[in-house]
Amino acid sequence: MRRSMSIHYPIGESGQVLTLEQNVLAHFAKWRQSDPKMPEAGGQLFGVVQGQSVELMRATGPINSDRRGRFFFIADRFAERREIITLHKSGLHYLGDWHTHPEAVPTPSGTDLSSMADLFVRSKHDLNAFLMVIVGTAEFPKGLHVSLHETNAWSTLKAAEKAQKAQEAF
Ligand SMILES: [Zn+2]
Repeated sequence: MRRSMSIHYPIGESGQVLTLEQNVLAHFAKWRQSDPKMPEAGGQLFGVVQGQSVELMRATGPINSDRRGRFFFIADRFAERREIITLHKSGLHYLGDWHTHPEAVPTPSGTDLSSMADLFVRSKHDLNAFLMVIVGTAEFPKGLHVSLHETNAWSTLKAAEKAQKAQEAF
């Protein structure tokens, strides 16, 4: 049996662990802006929360109605809302958003931070925080920014050591 690749992120002192599953990493790798002409991409993140484990199982988007440029990505929010309802029926919960940056090791922009705080305030959700993933051009996990956002606070998550295998795969 082949062991599937995934990256684990301990969530602060909570004992919770966020896992980015293989198919999610593959989706990110596909939209990475490694070619200088590729526009930004993005979408939503879905998964399952069970006790101490938060499993990120599905990354969606981009879709045709999003607006995309080299340095911007504006999601079709109506389509996103429909997607949240549809996937909820199959047991997947909306956990947050992802998008790409044309830089090797991505850091959130001021707009990224304010939009996540805004989203947290406006959305109906059962989560303590919203997840944001930014996909850079470096190999993973170095090329991934993963953070959790609340109204007035946010924190960056660091990949656990076991991530080495995924780095080789992507
Ligand atoms: Zn950004």
